[in-house]
Amino acid sequence: MDYQSVLDAIVDEVEPLVGEGKVADYIPALARVPVERFGIALYTVDGEVALAGDALEAFSIQSVSKVFSLTLALKKVGEQLWLRLGREPSGDPFNSLMQLEVEQGKARNPFINAGAICVADQLMSLSDDPKAELLDLVSTLCGESVAFDPEVAESERATGFRNAALANFMKSFGKIDNDVDRVLDVYFNQCSIAMNCVQMARAMAYLANAGVQPVGGREIVTPRQARRINALMLTCGTYDAAGEFAFLIGLPCKSGVGGGIVAVVPGELALCVWSPGLGSTGNSVVGMRALELFVAKTGLSVF
Ligand code: GLN
Repeated sequence: MDYQSVLDAIVDEVEPLVGEGKVADYIPALARVPVERFGIALYTVDGEVALAGDALEAFSIQSVSKVFSLTLALKKVGEQLWLRLGREPSGDPFNSLMQLEVEQGKARNPFINAGAICVADQLMSLSDDPKAELLDLVSTLCGESVAFDPEVAESERATGFRNAALANFMKSFGKIDNDVDRVLDVYFNQCSIAMNCVQMARAMAYLANAGVQPVGGREIVTPRQARRINALMLTCGTYDAAGEFAFLIGLPCKSGVGGGIVAVVPGELALCVWSPGLGSTGNSVVGMRALELFVAKTGLSVF
């Protein structure tokens, strides 16, 4: 398949839409990102790369980082992780507290904020320096070093009242083992990582290749773990739009409020789209449309 032509055609087709949606404005560093941006890149299991639009412009990965933290936690904790964490879609917004009371402080899945904070707590229990380990993993996946953005991390902390509430609420049920501020520090820093679409597509390629990095052949997770991460991305990766994503796109996806969305075509490729304008569920409006076009043009979908 001529992926480069597919991506070029998508850039042309979404152009009239670019600018739709609303840039996340809860912190200045995100609020000042221009809404008129669109990038797309893919990385195949054979190591082929294609990119178009603003694919080399770095963006704040935000909740896409939850895939990396889950990957690290599965490597370190294994199946025990699921004693603390559910695997069901929530149907509620990513930062909702609603179901935590019913579930006695157990987060419904690792891709909503409550679940990612629980994962950060688990990492903290098993590592002297979870932030360094996480950066190390993401840099290994990318093939080049990536970094936290200290300005973003500090703003996340300064405005993260809802996340602090989630962490404290879980702690009150005995579901967070470590100091809440230190757990949140891991979570806020993981959200602050900056990457571009090409780096992100390359970093996620192990999920398209049964857990093995296409170039270099390093096993990141087992084939079963890769399958399960993909399943969770499909059912929970885009919050209360997961049903709509499955219906319109039909691929495991993970989004973030920086406007990035990662999609995996198992056995074929990983794809990253970025456009900062968000819809009401916190997912990139143009990114979602681009993924729909990609599936329509290539026929690549898990269904
Ligand atoms: N930093 C954001 C938060 O914790 C990440 C949320 C997201 O990308 N959906 O609220």
